[in-house]
Amino acid sequence: MLRRQSARESAARTYARALPIVPVRARGLTIEGADGRRYLDCLSGAGTLALGHNHPVVLEAIRKVLDSGAPLHVLDLATPVKDAFTTELFRTLPPALADRARVQFCGPAGTDAVEAALKLVRTATGRRGILAFTGAYHGMTAGALEASGGAGDVRVTRLPFPQDYRCPFGVGGERGAELSARWTESLLDDTKSGVPLPAGMILEPVQGEGGVHPAPDVWLRRMRRITEARAIPLIADEVQTGVGRTGRFWAVEHSGVVPDVMVLSKAIGGSLPLAVVVYRDDLDVWKPGAHAGTFRGNQLAMAAGTATLAYVRENRLAERAATLGARMLDRLRCLAAEFPCVGDVRGRGLMIGIELVNPESASDPAPQDSTASLPGGTGPRPVAPALAAAVQRECLRRGLIVELGGRHASVVRLLPPLTITDEQTDAVLDRLADAVAAVAA
Ligand code: PMP
Repeated sequence: MLRRQSARESAARTYARALPIVPVRARGLTIEGADGRRYLDCLSGAGTLALGHNHPVVLEAIRKVLDSGAPLHVLDLATPVKDAFTTELFRTLPPALADRARVQFCGPAGTDAVEAALKLVRTATGRRGILAFTGAYHGMTAGALEASGGAGDVRVTRLPFPQDYRCPFGVGGERGAELSARWTESLLDDTKSGVPLPAGMILEPVQGEGGVHPAPDVWLRRMRRITEARAIPLIADEVQTGVGRTGRFWAVEHSGVVPDVMVLSKAIGGSLPLAVVVYRDDLDVWKPGAHAGTFRGNQLAMAAGTATLAYVRENRLAERAATLGARMLDRLRCLAAEFPCVGDVRGRGLMIGIELVNPESASDPAPQDSTASLPGGTGPRPVAPALAAAVQRECLRRGLIVELGGRHASVVRLLPPLTITDEQTDAVLDRLADAVAAVAA
């Protein structure tokens, strides 16, 4: 079956190549394949499954809608299900935004909400340009792709002048934050060769697909000040970081920054497709019908999403993600101390990345912006995509599903559900450590 399906599907398929399994059942952290094998799923639908697979509260919420006889498709009409979702969503938002929030239902994917956000700020400001960051990932439709660093068809690339050049996240920490902010300011304030005043700035509070790079809080605050001073709307793409994953309900809360616009998807639909843009009411400049679309009112997704948001809030799962994530990072740092091929370990909450480096040879690409350095601080080493792929394979052999990411696919990523237990966390780390040992041997 697997071979038949692979032959029929597009060559663009992604996960199916590295994970040749046929899931037939799933619950919580566990997926069962058609061959009866069980896997611990730390991919979680690319960070979508905040409560893991088939959580009872999610299933119950979906069943309730199905059994109620409510229409499943009503375009963007108001329904009790939508009302409940919006109420719960607004309850979770940073208060300064919640007090004046508007929500635009988009759909069905994160990339659709990114498009809507870009269009919104362009409409609101009457300007065109968008500031986005190297290594960013915002989706696969045209506008989102352009905002994504190097992921696709970037039609205009603005290269910073050499003396200013530093990868915004690359140097890391306060220094990276300072360099990135200075570069942004100089670009905006250079009226001769800088950029025209843009319509907006879009950023991820933790770059996920880009290799798990948490943006320093100080940097986010600086970007907020820079954009505020110039009346540039700030868009926080929380498609992956939202709903407790990083240790706060929304990742921007770590820094106290209140964006003008938030793009939300993945976990807000409780496993089903749902995407929204939330923004301050003064940006609500749409004319009726200015942003339409057939699938913007998925009743089942909104019901599943309401149940998920409420469960995360009531059970303080964001705090749990912070605690567990810190514990996982501690143990992974021991792994980095033991195995030189583990070049860096980083993350926030349950969004964790392990960068594989090639300690001996320089045969792998050694990108300028590679930041992986050994725990001893001996400086950048070439990143090692082949080793990362080998770790992913060895994990799979041990019944553990992990994702790869990073600009050079050299980062093993963990995105477990926030409901993962202590014992399961240990099992994940044991299997991962075994896999790294096998690759390092
Ligand atoms: N933004 C971010 C930060 C993402 O991580 C993703 C998906 N990985 C997207 C946007 C696009 O979402 P989707 O795949 O649902 O279109």
